[in-house]
Amino acid sequence: MLTELTARNELSKLKDPRLFREHAYLGGKWTAAKDGKVMAVSNPATGAQLGVVPALGGGETEAAIAAAAAAFPAWRRLLPQQRAAYLRRWYELMVEAKDDLALIMTLEQGKPLAEAEGEIAYAASFIEWFAEEGKRINVEGVMPHLPGRQMTVRREPVGVTAAITPWNFPSAMITRKAAAALAAGCPMVVRPASETPYSALALAELADRAGIPAGVFSVVTGPAQAIVDALQASPLVRALSFTGSTEIGRKLLEGGAQTIKRMSMELGGHAPMLVFPEVDLEDAVAGAVAAKFQTTGQDCLAANRIYVHAGIYERFVERFAAYVRELRVGNGLEEGVEIGPLMHERAVAKCESHVADAIAKGGRVLAGGGRHTLGGNFFEPTVIADADDGMLIAHEETFGPVAAVLRFDDEAEVIGRANDTIYGLAAYVWSNDLNRVARVTSALEYGMVAVNCVKMTGAPIPFGGVKQSGLGREGSRHGLEEFTELKYVCIAIAEAA
Ligand code: NAP
Repeated sequence: MLTELTARNELSKLKDPRLFREHAYLGGKWTAAKDGKVMAVSNPATGAQLGVVPALGGGETEAAIAAAAAAFPAWRRLLPQQRAAYLRRWYELMVEAKDDLALIMTLEQGKPLAEAEGEIAYAASFIEWFAEEGKRINVEGVMPHLPGRQMTVRREPVGVTAAITPWNFPSAMITRKAAAALAAGCPMVVRPASETPYSALALAELADRAGIPAGVFSVVTGPAQAIVDALQASPLVRALSFTGSTEIGRKLLEGGAQTIKRMSMELGGHAPMLVFPEVDLEDAVAGAVAAKFQTTGQDCLAANRIYVHAGIYERFVERFAAYVRELRVGNGLEEGVEIGPLMHERAVAKCESHVADAIAKGGRVLAGGGRHTLGGNFFEPTVIADADDGMLIAHEETFGPVAAVLRFDDEAEVIGRANDTIYGLAAYVWSNDLNRVARVTSALEYGMVAVNCVKMTGAPIPFGGVKQSGLGREGSRHGLEEFTELKYVCIAIAEAA
């Protein structure tokens, strides 16, 4: 009872309480489940129940798909400038509501408020970007290879699209997909993660206020299986875009075969960071802290394997552990907190198992190492030195604040070890040797590589992975390709009489 009151108190800080919606948004209408079923949503920092959302199923999902299909002809017929005006308004409303949106995110996801504010700006930037980029989906002319023909290639919207999104970036993983789909002329039905529906529903409220027509953007809440099955089975859904684990991505790819959908997959990461001996040590240490501990390590870009050259290894781990011991853990609403709670008990248990496995195999714990004294979902920021390739942490995404630091001796060896994984999302390289940077960046089998920096993403870049980290790209002009089809038109031109 007390915790529920606490949650309500925190929600009372919203300047615009209507952004906190406890209904799903289908076909332009706020909707409850017909049978009244709901799912509870809790604050991972306190365990307090924040509220409920409707537990919808296949029938309501089909209704959302039907509304999207009904909205499609008019939405695709708009001029790109007209769609851009709706998107621009949506973007502006997000920017105006940024404080409330960040508060809702911290309450349901747990990330520190400053990180939530950063995510809202990042999420909004995709809407702004695609509002403009949608105007540049041009028709290509082809120099004819046949006599008397006029040949063109058009990019047309695929039709109704769907998105299934995770809890670690509750707003940006939606706008990165939806802004591209809508700009391309496609309606989208979104199924947000069970843990973080309120950020998605706040986006729906703002889409509604922006005047985006009914059915163009819907948010269906409820158990994953029933909703996803309905999305998969529907021949009307022509493209499905997923962000989440490789395991679920694999299942979705199998399901998509039923109706031969276009599938975009942003899946797991297991990023290596390669620190070569010529670097500025302090700079590399600060980079490793940022690359590992942002979003409390619950980030597909998190550096899970930090390979450091033997010549600087001991100095590096000592400085790194000193930094990590200073990271402030707590409720993301508190000033100065850098590490929030994990999303759920499963995530805490996974961190524990990675640490236990590492210790059993000779790892040295230099910082943290276990559950935090705050209890609940809090885990100590942890550094494991002397990690090696035989440990679980060297093969599996930890998705928590546990950093493994491994030793290497030479460039070819560390490239081989960095590539020895099914994943290929992002990699970090720390080196001041130009020739080395050129060699290493071309040898790494990753979709994105950052050199001497950590922050690299944003609307203008094609975000995505290779190998089992995914298919397709989000952001940049390439993000539109996921929601458009090429149509080739060949016209025979008769000679003038
Ligand atoms: P997840 O377990 O794969 O869940 C992702 C989404 O799929 C959620 O909406 C989830 O619903 C839904 N889902 C769960 N089981 C399903 C099923 N059987 N069929 C269909 N959908 C199902 O991943 P997560 O734990 O939320 O997110 C972490 C993962 O996402 C990590 O692997 C991370 O690397 C990856 N990620 C990748 C990127 C990228 O851009 N490449 C970005 C962020 C995260 P419920 O919420 O109801 O479980």
